Amino acid sequence: MISVDDHREAVTKLLGTAPATPLALPECAGLVLAEDVRAGVSLPPFDNSAMDGYAVRAQDIAAASPENPVELPVAADIPAGRVDVPDLLPGTAHRIMTGAPMPPGADSVVMVEETDGGTERVRIRKSVPVDNHVRHIGEDVVKGTVALTAGTVLSHAQLGLAAAVGLDKLTVHRPLKVVVASTGSELIDAPNPLRYGQIYESNSIMLATAIRATGAEVVVVRSVVDDVDEFRAVIEPKLADADLLVTSGGVSAGAYEVVKDALTGSVVFEKIAMQPGGPQGSGRWNGVPVVTLPGNPVSVLVSFEAFLRPALLSAMGHTGVNRQQVRAKLIESMTSPLGRRQFRRGFYTQTEGQVTGIVGPRGGPGSHLLAAFTQANCLIVLPEDVGSVAEGEEVDVLLL
Ligand code: AMP
Ligand code: MG
Repeated sequence: MISVDDHREAVTKLLGTAPATPLALPECAGLVLAEDVRAGVSLPPFDNSAMDGYAVRAQDIAAASPENPVELPVAADIPAGRVDVPDLLPGTAHRIMTGAPMPPGADSVVMVEETDGGTERVRIRKSVPVDNHVRHIGEDVVKGTVALTAGTVLSHAQLGLAAAVGLDKLTVHRPLKVVVASTGSELIDAPNPLRYGQIYESNSIMLATAIRATGAEVVVVRSVVDDVDEFRAVIEPKLADADLLVTSGGVSAGAYEVVKDALTGSVVFEKIAMQPGGPQGSGRWNGVPVVTLPGNPVSVLVSFEAFLRPALLSAMGHTGVNRQQVRAKLIESMTSPLGRRQFRRGFYTQTEGQVTGIVGPRGGPGSHLLAAFTQANCLIVLPEDVGSVAEGEEVDVLLL
């Protein structure tokens, strides 16, 4: 048997690293920046007003108070977006809006609330220090400096900053294109009616959703029957520009194992020292990386966590590919097969003020118990050399 860690490394190696490609900003969400981004402009790009009000020379209104307002002529109006900003002459004010450029000669802004709001002349009821409500050029980002570093995961704030410094594209590790295929002659796609012996196909939506959440793109081929020629005929044309084929089902030790039968010679099929998810395979078919998962729905989800998720994330440039792992006190005793790493579905809670949380299993070890997975928020990991854990002992927990 191969260890979980060795298979994970093999799958990670198989996927390699997605090439760096320029993509339009909206397509970059969730992806990883492949190179440093230097700001082509400062932020703010020019001194501007942080308030709606009046640009003035602070010294001109030094004597202003509610009892003795200072009255100044309003010499210009500067809405946001005005590009021909006239100089402010001593003893005058310019009406100015938030984000509008400061007129040369002005050194401060009085907010409109401290004035009578006049448009010809303005009465100012308060003195202000120099730089009041002025946002200075380069306060946020200085032109030419690194605004975003390679390896940054691009979420909304990062994409906003890229847009703010004038970019419409970023060079990212491009999303992998993954073909997800589910196999099994018993599988029926809803809402078609079931006959005795048939079940509804559920792995492909799980895999597609989980894989898309890593940032990859997915094409789904559902419910391929257990026939080698049919399998090849249906899947092969989908692989033209694929980076990875992920299959479910058809890799165990029985007969009619379509994936095994079709791909032996291209893919190495192995038994991994884990439960669930023992039967696994990886290799290349016509040059395209292939990862074959067993068919039971919980095995699929656990295999995704153990192998696919870290490999996909690392291929797309992520460095933090591991789920957060914590120790937790088990609230009921559990057993595990010696020699295998067991991943059990669990529910973890951490009471405020308590350092160590508590965890209990959701459902038994059976890899068909999908409903229990939906009530879990973690995987309880019982290592290979552990046969049982008593209530109250600490275990490793992967937070999902
Ligand atoms: P297999 O690995 O093909 O032997 O399948 C193991 C178990 O998982 C069988 O009970 C299958 O019916 C079930 N199974 C396989 N593929 C799927 C699927 N796509 N959706 C739901 N159940 C499946
Ligand atoms: Mg099958």
